[in-house]
Amino acid sequence: MDVIEPRTPGRTRHPGERRLSTLHQAAGIYQRLHTVYGARHWWPADTPFEVMLGAILTQNAAWTNVEKALTNLKAADALTPRAILDIPLAGLARLIRPSGYFNQKAARLKRIAGFVIEHGGIEALRALPVEVLRPRLLAINGVGPETADSILLYALNKPVFVIDAYTRRIFSRLGHVKGDETYEELRDLFERSLPARDTALYNEYHALIVEHAKQHCRVKPVCRSCPVSPDCGYP
Ligand code: SF4
Repeated sequence: MDVIEPRTPGRTRHPGERRLSTLHQAAGIYQRLHTVYGARHWWPADTPFEVMLGAILTQNAAWTNVEKALTNLKAADALTPRAILDIPLAGLARLIRPSGYFNQKAARLKRIAGFVIEHGGIEALRALPVEVLRPRLLAINGVGPETADSILLYALNKPVFVIDAYTRRIFSRLGHVKGDETYEELRDLFERSLPARDTALYNEYHALIVEHAKQHCRVKPVCRSCPVSPDCGYP
């Protein structure tokens, strides 16, 4: 995965072509981030279901607080879909309290656990095409596009590019997107600009974006030692 060949020739032009061709440089940015930060080995979890739990717990929460909630779940032996369904709602909310919005999130965890069980488990879910899975995930109350795509990519190994606030921040500062595009517009741009259906690349790229946002492209950016500063027009 060290060398990416961007998609190009023979493609039909369409509205947004200018931004897309700029975003085409996404491949080069990936190479530099990968060189500097190295492989990130995401997502930090022991099982695909733990990834699903983490994807919900991290909504509006710092990962350090998600880790505390996951540690509590682990101590309660509650990292399986069956266990999440069996714990009373109030008890589950208590366990995940460190992640914030714990009452809402407890209900969401129960819904995602029910979703896994209804479909016959993780392997049965993985056997379904992304075109079937994504709408079903999005139909779960409390599962938005970022959560659904994190689950698809990191728990179910589906080729979906995850967009988050860090992606908007970095690529708008670099000048490749405006930053006010819809989630689906940005996802579409990335997926059309990178090698098609490359799960490993999408996995690594999103993880590198998160790392870059933490180390350099913070709210108050640290531009001096930034590995992509030669291409950045910010401020
Ligand atoms: S040069 Fe600064 S603003 Fe641009 S990507 Fe790097 S850290 Fe972010």
